[in-house]
Amino acid sequence: MSDWSAKNPYSSNLTENFVLNGEGSRKETRHIVFDLGDSGLQYKAGDALGVIPRCPPELVEDVLASCGFSGDEEVDTHLGPCGLRQALTERYEIHRISKKWIEELGPRLSSGAADIEIRIVHRQRTSSRDGSVLIDWNGSGAEDDVPVGYVEIGSASDPAETLWAELTGDSKAMEDYIWSRDYIDGLADFGHIGFTPQQLVDGMDRLKPRLYSIASSPDFEPGMVHLTVAIVRYNHHDRDRAGLCTGFMADHCEVGETDIGVFMSPTRSFVLPEDRSTDIIMVGPGTGIAPFRAFLQQRQMEGDSGRNWLFFGDWTEEGSTCTATRWRHGERTV
Ligand SMILES: Cc1cc2nc3c(=O)[nH]c(=O)nc-3n(C[C@H](O)[C@H](O)[C@H](O)COP(=O)(O)OP(=O)(O)OC[C@H]3O[C@@H](n4cnc5c(N)ncnc54)[C@H](O)[C@@H]3O)c2cc1C
Repeated sequence: MSDWSAKNPYSSNLTENFVLNGEGSRKETRHIVFDLGDSGLQYKAGDALGVIPRCPPELVEDVLASCGFSGDEEVDTHLGPCGLRQALTERYEIHRISKKWIEELGPRLSSGAADIEIRIVHRQRTSSRDGSVLIDWNGSGAEDDVPVGYVEIGSASDPAETLWAELTGDSKAMEDYIWSRDYIDGLADFGHIGFTPQQLVDGMDRLKPRLYSIASSPDFEPGMVHLTVAIVRYNHHDRDRAGLCTGFMADHCEVGETDIGVFMSPTRSFVLPEDRSTDIIMVGPGTGIAPFRAFLQQRQMEGDSGRNWLFFGDWTEEGSTCTATRWRHGERTV
Protein backbone atom coordinates (compact mmCIF):
# COMPACT_ATOMS: atom_id res chain seq x y z
CA MET A 1 0.00 0.00 0.00
CA SER A 2 1.33 3.48 -0.86
CA ASP A 3 0.85 6.52 1.35
CA TRP A 4 0.15 9.05 -1.39
CA SER A 5 -2.70 11.38 -0.42
CA ALA A 6 -4.25 14.79 -1.17
CA LYS A 7 -1.61 16.34 1.10
CA ASN A 8 1.17 14.19 -0.30
CA PRO A 9 0.21 13.52 -3.94
CA TYR A 10 2.14 11.33 -6.36
CA SER A 11 3.61 13.27 -9.27
CA SER A 12 2.19 11.57 -12.35
CA ASN A 13 2.51 12.14 -16.12
CA LEU A 14 -0.05 11.68 -18.87
CA THR A 15 0.33 9.10 -21.59
CA GLU A 16 -2.78 10.19 -23.51
CA ASN A 17 -4.97 13.30 -23.63
CA PHE A 18 -7.39 13.73 -26.52
CA VAL A 19 -10.92 14.83 -27.38
CA LEU A 20 -13.53 12.08 -27.82
CA ASN A 21 -16.35 14.12 -29.34
CA GLY A 22 -17.10 14.10 -33.01
CA GLU A 23 -16.63 17.15 -35.20
CA GLY A 24 -19.22 19.85 -34.64
CA SER A 25 -20.06 18.70 -31.12
CA ARG A 26 -20.65 21.53 -28.66
CA LYS A 27 -19.00 19.51 -25.93
CA GLU A 28 -15.40 18.74 -25.15
CA THR A 29 -15.04 15.37 -23.48
CA ARG A 30 -11.52 14.04 -23.11
CA HIS A 31 -9.94 10.64 -22.71
CA ILE A 32 -7.05 11.22 -20.32
CA VAL A 33 -4.63 8.53 -19.18
CA PHE A 34 -2.37 8.87 -16.12
CA ASP A 35 0.75 6.79 -15.63
CA LEU A 36 1.06 5.54 -12.05
CA GLY A 37 4.74 4.69 -12.65
CA ASP A 38 6.51 3.37 -9.56
CA SER A 39 4.01 4.98 -7.16
CA GLY A 40 2.64 1.69 -5.86
CA LEU A 41 -0.84 3.26 -6.17
CA GLN A 42 -3.55 0.63 -6.53
CA TYR A 43 -7.25 0.82 -7.24
CA LYS A 44 -10.37 -1.19 -8.00
CA ALA A 45 -13.20 -0.56 -10.45
CA GLY A 46 -15.45 2.10 -8.88
CA ASP A 47 -12.66 4.14 -7.24
CA ALA A 48 -11.93 7.76 -8.13
CA LEU A 49 -8.66 9.55 -8.85
CA GLY A 50 -7.93 12.83 -7.04
CA VAL A 51 -6.22 15.41 -9.27
CA ILE A 52 -4.49 18.52 -7.92
CA PRO A 53 -4.94 21.34 -10.44
CA ARG A 54 -2.83 24.44 -10.90
CA CYS A 55 -4.17 27.90 -11.78
CA PRO A 56 -3.50 29.00 -15.37
CA PRO A 57 -0.16 30.86 -15.61
CA GLU A 58 -1.62 33.63 -17.79
CA LEU A 59 -4.25 34.37 -15.14
CA VAL A 60 -1.59 34.39 -12.40
CA GLU A 61 0.52 36.87 -14.39
CA ASP A 62 -2.51 39.09 -15.08
CA VAL A 63 -3.39 39.22 -11.38
CA LEU A 64 0.23 40.07 -10.48
CA ALA A 65 0.35 42.78 -13.16
CA SER A 66 -2.98 44.26 -11.99
CA CYS A 67 -1.45 44.82 -8.55
CA GLY A 68 2.06 45.75 -9.73
CA PHE A 69 3.64 42.77 -7.95
CA SER A 70 6.63 40.80 -9.22
CA GLY A 71 5.41 37.48 -7.77
CA ASP A 72 8.54 37.07 -5.63
CA GLU A 73 6.95 38.71 -2.58
CA GLU A 74 6.55 36.30 0.35
CA VAL A 75 3.09 35.59 1.76
CA ASP A 76 1.77 33.45 4.60
CA THR A 77 -0.61 30.72 3.49
CA HIS A 78 -2.45 27.78 5.10
CA LEU A 79 0.44 25.59 3.89
CA GLY A 80 3.13 27.90 5.26
CA PRO A 81 5.01 30.83 3.72
CA CYS A 82 5.83 30.90 0.00
CA GLY A 83 6.29 33.27 -2.91
CA LEU A 84 3.19 35.09 -4.15
CA ARG A 85 3.38 33.53 -7.66
CA GLN A 86 3.51 30.04 -6.16
CA ALA A 87 0.61 30.86 -3.82
CA LEU A 88 -1.57 32.10 -6.71
CA THR A 89 -0.63 29.07 -8.81
CA GLU A 90 -0.77 26.20 -6.35
CA ARG A 91 -2.54 27.27 -3.18
CA TYR A 92 -5.57 29.39 -4.05
CA GLU A 93 -8.40 29.22 -6.58
CA ILE A 94 -8.01 32.47 -8.46
CA HIS A 95 -10.35 31.59 -11.34
CA ARG A 96 -13.43 32.30 -9.20
CA ILE A 97 -13.58 35.27 -6.81
CA SER A 98 -14.58 34.32 -3.27
CA LYS A 99 -17.36 35.81 -1.18
CA LYS A 100 -15.04 35.96 1.84
CA TRP A 101 -12.44 37.98 -0.10
CA ILE A 102 -15.08 40.56 -1.01
CA GLU A 103 -16.51 40.68 2.51
CA GLU A 104 -13.07 41.24 4.01
CA LEU A 105 -12.59 44.38 1.93
CA GLY A 106 -15.23 46.09 4.09
CA PRO A 107 -13.11 47.67 6.83
CA ARG A 108 -10.64 49.00 4.26
CA LEU A 109 -13.37 50.52 2.11
CA SER A 110 -15.36 52.09 4.93
CA SER A 111 -12.27 53.33 6.78
CA GLY A 112 -12.48 56.35 4.50
CA ALA A 113 -9.25 55.38 2.77
CA ALA A 114 -11.20 54.89 -0.41
CA ASP A 115 -13.22 58.13 -0.28
CA ILE A 116 -12.33 60.49 -3.06
CA GLU A 117 -12.22 64.07 -1.81
CA ILE A 118 -11.51 66.79 -4.32
CA ARG A 119 -10.44 70.12 -2.87
CA ILE A 120 -9.56 73.18 -4.87
CA VAL A 121 -6.73 74.92 -3.10
CA HIS A 122 -5.94 77.75 -5.47
CA ARG A 123 -7.52 79.26 -8.51
CA GLN A 124 -6.04 82.12 -10.50
CA ARG A 125 -7.20 83.49 -13.80
CA THR A 126 -5.36 86.11 -15.81
CA SER A 127 -6.48 88.20 -18.73
CA SER A 128 -5.29 86.91 -22.08
CA ARG A 129 -5.17 90.49 -23.34
CA ASP A 130 -2.95 92.25 -20.82
CA GLY A 131 -2.00 89.54 -18.27
CA SER A 132 -3.81 91.30 -15.43
CA VAL A 133 -5.12 89.06 -12.60
CA LEU A 134 -8.90 88.62 -12.90
CA ILE A 135 -9.45 86.03 -10.13
CA ASP A 136 -7.05 85.10 -7.37
CA TRP A 137 -8.62 82.68 -4.87
CA ASN A 138 -6.75 80.61 -2.31
CA GLY A 139 -9.53 79.33 -0.05
CA SER A 140 -8.37 81.35 2.92
CA GLY A 141 -11.86 82.76 3.60
CA ALA A 142 -14.78 81.14 5.40
CA GLU A 143 -15.21 77.30 5.39
CA ASP A 144 -17.89 77.35 2.70
CA ASP A 145 -15.86 79.71 0.53
CA VAL A 146 -15.54 78.43 -3.09
CA PRO A 147 -13.77 80.08 -5.99
CA VAL A 148 -15.78 82.26 -8.33
CA GLY A 149 -17.42 80.18 -11.08
CA TYR A 150 -17.45 76.91 -9.07
CA VAL A 151 -20.40 75.25 -7.34
CA GLU A 152 -19.81 73.25 -4.17
CA ILE A 153 -21.09 69.70 -4.69
CA GLY A 154 -19.44 67.96 -1.74
CA SER A 155 -17.14 64.97 -1.79
CA ALA A 156 -17.76 62.03 -4.17
CA SER A 157 -18.19 58.65 -2.54
CA ASP A 158 -16.30 55.67 -4.01
CA PRO A 159 -18.42 53.54 -6.40
CA ALA A 160 -16.58 50.49 -5.05
CA GLU A 161 -18.01 51.24 -1.62
CA THR A 162 -21.51 51.38 -3.09
CA LEU A 163 -20.95 48.09 -4.94
CA TRP A 164 -19.56 46.44 -1.81
CA ALA A 165 -22.60 47.56 0.22
CA GLU A 166 -24.93 46.19 -2.48
CA LEU A 167 -23.17 42.81 -2.59
CA THR A 168 -22.85 42.27 1.14
CA GLY A 169 -26.43 43.39 1.75
CA ASP A 170 -28.02 41.11 -0.84
CA SER A 171 -27.00 37.43 -0.99
CA LYS A 172 -28.49 36.96 -4.49
CA ALA A 173 -26.48 39.93 -5.82
CA MET A 174 -23.37 38.42 -4.20
CA GLU A 175 -24.01 34.99 -5.76
CA ASP A 176 -24.54 36.59 -9.18
CA TYR A 177 -21.36 38.62 -8.83
CA ILE A 178 -19.04 35.78 -7.79
CA TRP A 179 -20.62 33.26 -10.24
CA SER A 180 -19.18 35.00 -13.28
CA ARG A 181 -16.05 36.72 -11.97
CA ASP A 182 -12.43 35.95 -11.20
CA TYR A 183 -9.82 38.14 -9.48
CA ILE A 184 -9.10 40.14 -12.64
CA ASP A 185 -12.74 41.27 -12.53
CA GLY A 186 -12.57 41.80 -8.77
CA LEU A 187 -9.43 43.90 -9.02
CA ALA A 188 -11.02 46.00 -11.77
CA ASP A 189 -13.80 46.88 -9.32
CA PHE A 190 -11.84 47.07 -6.06
CA GLY A 191 -8.13 47.16 -6.97
CA HIS A 192 -7.76 50.92 -6.56
CA ILE A 193 -7.99 50.63 -2.76
CA GLY A 194 -4.51 49.12 -2.90
CA PHE A 195 -3.38 45.69 -1.71
CA THR A 196 -0.31 44.33 -0.03
CA PRO A 197 0.61 40.84 -1.33
CA GLN A 198 -0.80 39.39 1.91
CA GLN A 199 -4.06 41.34 1.61
CA LEU A 200 -4.41 40.01 -1.94
CA VAL A 201 -4.38 36.35 -0.92
CA ASP A 202 -6.21 36.65 2.40
CA GLY A 203 -9.81 35.49 1.95
CA MET A 204 -9.18 33.66 -1.34
CA ASP A 205 -10.57 30.08 -1.51
CA ARG A 206 -7.97 27.41 -0.86
CA LEU A 207 -7.18 25.31 -3.91
CA LYS A 208 -8.97 21.95 -3.66
CA PRO A 209 -8.31 18.70 -5.52
CA ARG A 210 -11.02 17.39 -7.89
CA LEU A 211 -12.18 13.77 -8.01
CA TYR A 212 -12.69 11.80 -11.23
CA SER A 213 -14.29 8.35 -11.50
CA ILE A 214 -11.72 5.96 -12.90
CA ALA A 215 -12.85 4.70 -16.30
CA SER A 216 -10.55 1.68 -16.50
CA SER A 217 -10.06 -1.61 -14.72
CA PRO A 218 -6.63 -1.99 -13.06
CA ASP A 219 -6.34 -5.39 -14.75
CA PHE A 220 -7.05 -4.00 -18.21
CA GLU A 221 -3.95 -1.82 -18.42
CA PRO A 222 -1.99 -2.24 -15.17
CA GLY A 223 -0.27 0.89 -13.86
CA MET A 224 -2.53 3.23 -15.85
CA VAL A 225 -5.65 5.20 -14.92
CA HIS A 226 -8.12 6.23 -17.64
CA LEU A 227 -10.44 9.19 -17.05
CA THR A 228 -13.41 10.51 -19.05
CA VAL A 229 -13.49 14.25 -18.41
CA ALA A 230 -16.02 16.87 -19.49
CA ILE A 231 -14.13 20.15 -19.92
CA VAL A 232 -15.93 23.12 -18.34
CA ARG A 233 -15.76 26.19 -20.61
CA TYR A 234 -17.77 29.40 -20.61
CA ASN A 235 -17.50 33.07 -21.49
CA HIS A 236 -18.31 35.88 -19.11
CA HIS A 237 -17.64 39.62 -19.44
CA ASP A 238 -16.05 39.03 -22.86
CA ARG A 239 -13.40 36.64 -21.61
CA ASP A 240 -13.18 32.89 -22.23
CA ARG A 241 -12.88 30.95 -19.00
CA ALA A 242 -12.49 27.32 -17.98
CA GLY A 243 -13.05 25.18 -14.92
CA LEU A 244 -9.91 25.04 -12.83
CA CYS A 245 -9.06 21.35 -13.08
CA THR A 246 -10.63 20.53 -16.44
CA GLY A 247 -9.03 23.66 -17.98
CA PHE A 248 -5.70 22.64 -16.43
CA MET A 249 -5.89 19.11 -17.86
CA ALA A 250 -7.12 20.25 -21.29
CA ASP A 251 -4.94 23.32 -21.84
CA HIS A 252 -1.85 22.97 -19.66
CA CYS A 253 -1.03 19.26 -19.36
CA GLU A 254 1.28 17.94 -22.07
CA VAL A 255 1.60 14.18 -22.56
CA GLY A 256 4.83 12.91 -20.97
CA GLU A 257 5.87 16.37 -19.78
CA THR A 258 3.65 17.99 -17.17
CA ASP A 259 3.88 16.79 -13.57
CA ILE A 260 0.42 16.37 -12.08
CA GLY A 261 -0.27 15.57 -8.43
CA VAL A 262 -2.69 12.64 -8.00
CA PHE A 263 -3.97 10.33 -5.25
CA MET A 264 -6.58 7.58 -4.93
CA SER A 265 -10.04 8.07 -3.48
CA PRO A 266 -11.34 4.54 -2.82
CA THR A 267 -15.04 3.71 -2.66
CA ARG A 268 -16.62 1.28 -0.21
CA SER A 269 -20.12 1.05 -1.63
CA PHE A 270 -19.86 1.66 -5.39
CA VAL A 271 -18.52 -1.80 -6.24
CA LEU A 272 -19.34 -4.74 -8.49
CA PRO A 273 -21.40 -7.55 -6.95
CA GLU A 274 -19.27 -10.28 -5.40
CA ASP A 275 -21.37 -12.95 -7.12
CA ARG A 276 -20.10 -12.85 -10.70
CA SER A 277 -23.29 -14.31 -12.07
CA THR A 278 -25.35 -11.32 -10.86
CA ASP A 279 -26.89 -9.21 -13.63
CA ILE A 280 -26.21 -5.46 -13.38
CA ILE A 281 -28.00 -2.37 -14.71
CA MET A 282 -25.84 0.75 -15.08
CA VAL A 283 -27.21 4.24 -15.76
CA GLY A 284 -24.60 6.86 -16.62
CA PRO A 285 -25.53 9.94 -18.64
CA GLY A 286 -22.69 12.19 -19.80
CA THR A 287 -19.41 11.52 -18.04
CA GLY A 288 -21.44 9.61 -15.45
CA ILE A 289 -20.68 6.69 -17.72
CA ALA A 290 -16.97 6.73 -16.75
CA PRO A 291 -16.96 4.23 -13.87
CA PHE A 292 -19.12 1.80 -15.85
CA ARG A 293 -16.37 1.47 -18.43
CA ALA A 294 -14.22 0.24 -15.54
CA PHE A 295 -16.98 -2.14 -14.41
CA LEU A 296 -17.42 -3.57 -17.92
CA GLN A 297 -13.68 -4.04 -18.41
CA GLN A 298 -13.40 -5.71 -15.03
CA ARG A 299 -16.26 -8.12 -15.73
CA GLN A 300 -14.79 -8.94 -19.11
CA MET A 301 -11.32 -9.56 -17.66
CA GLU A 302 -12.73 -11.86 -15.02
CA GLY A 303 -15.12 -13.64 -17.40
CA ASP A 304 -18.18 -12.83 -15.26
CA SER A 305 -21.32 -14.63 -16.40
CA GLY A 306 -23.77 -11.93 -15.17
CA ARG A 307 -25.44 -9.87 -17.88
CA ASN A 308 -24.75 -6.12 -18.19
CA TRP A 309 -27.09 -3.32 -19.26
CA LEU A 310 -25.61 0.12 -19.74
CA PHE A 311 -27.86 3.16 -20.27
CA PHE A 312 -26.10 6.23 -21.60
CA GLY A 313 -27.59 9.62 -22.42
CA ASP A 314 -26.21 12.60 -24.30
CA TRP A 315 -27.55 15.94 -25.56
CA THR A 316 -27.84 14.64 -29.11
CA GLU A 317 -28.14 11.20 -30.68
CA GLU A 318 -25.15 11.96 -32.92
CA GLY A 319 -22.96 13.05 -30.02
CA SER A 320 -23.97 10.01 -28.07
CA THR A 321 -23.08 7.52 -30.81
CA CYS A 322 -19.78 9.19 -31.74
CA THR A 323 -18.60 9.60 -28.20
CA ALA A 324 -19.64 6.18 -26.98
CA THR A 325 -17.84 4.28 -29.73
CA ARG A 326 -14.55 6.10 -29.33
CA TRP A 327 -14.83 6.13 -25.58
CA ARG A 328 -15.28 2.35 -25.38
CA HIS A 329 -12.07 1.73 -27.23
CA GLY A 330 -10.19 4.82 -26.04
CA GLU A 331 -9.75 5.79 -29.69
CA ARG A 332 -8.56 9.11 -30.97
CA THR A 333 -11.04 11.21 -32.98
CA VAL A 334 -8.44 12.13 -35.60
C1 LIG B 1 -16.85 11.25 -6.99
C2 LIG B 1 -16.78 12.18 -8.18
C3 LIG B 1 -16.51 11.68 -9.43
C4 LIG B 1 -16.47 12.52 -10.54
N1 LIG B 1 -16.19 11.99 -11.76
C5 LIG B 1 -16.11 12.79 -12.83
C6 LIG B 1 -15.80 12.22 -14.12
O1 LIG B 1 -15.62 11.03 -14.27
N2 LIG B 1 -15.72 13.09 -15.17
C7 LIG B 1 -15.93 14.44 -15.03
O2 LIG B 1 -15.83 15.15 -16.04
N3 LIG B 1 -16.22 14.98 -13.82
C8 LIG B 1 -16.29 14.20 -12.73
N4 LIG B 1 -16.55 14.76 -11.50
C9 LIG B 1 -16.64 16.23 -11.38
C10 LIG B 1 -15.25 16.83 -11.14
O3 LIG B 1 -14.78 16.46 -9.85
C11 LIG B 1 -15.19 18.37 -11.22
O4 LIG B 1 -16.16 18.89 -10.34
C12 LIG B 1 -15.45 18.92 -12.61
O5 LIG B 1 -14.51 18.38 -13.52
C13 LIG B 1 -15.30 20.45 -12.64
O6 LIG B 1 -14.05 20.79 -12.11
P1 LIG B 1 -13.26 22.11 -12.59
O7 LIG B 1 -12.18 22.34 -11.59
O8 LIG B 1 -12.88 22.03 -14.01
O9 LIG B 1 -14.35 23.22 -12.50
P2 LIG B 1 -14.46 24.33 -11.35
O10 LIG B 1 -13.39 25.32 -11.49
O11 LIG B 1 -14.62 23.62 -10.05
O12 LIG B 1 -15.76 24.99 -11.81
C14 LIG B 1 -16.92 24.25 -11.92
C15 LIG B 1 -17.94 25.23 -11.56
O13 LIG B 1 -18.13 26.06 -12.69
C16 LIG B 1 -19.43 26.40 -12.65
N5 LIG B 1 -19.83 26.76 -13.99
C17 LIG B 1 -20.15 25.93 -14.98
N6 LIG B 1 -20.56 26.65 -16.04
C18 LIG B 1 -20.48 27.94 -15.68
C19 LIG B 1 -20.78 29.17 -16.31
N7 LIG B 1 -21.27 29.19 -17.55
N8 LIG B 1 -20.56 30.30 -15.65
C20 LIG B 1 -20.09 30.29 -14.41
N9 LIG B 1 -19.79 29.17 -13.75
C21 LIG B 1 -20.00 28.01 -14.38
C22 LIG B 1 -20.18 25.21 -12.09
O14 LIG B 1 -21.27 25.61 -11.35
C23 LIG B 1 -19.19 24.61 -11.18
O15 LIG B 1 -19.46 24.95 -9.84
C24 LIG B 1 -16.66 13.92 -10.39
C25 LIG B 1 -16.94 14.43 -9.12
C26 LIG B 1 -17.00 13.57 -8.04
C27 LIG B 1 -17.29 14.16 -6.68
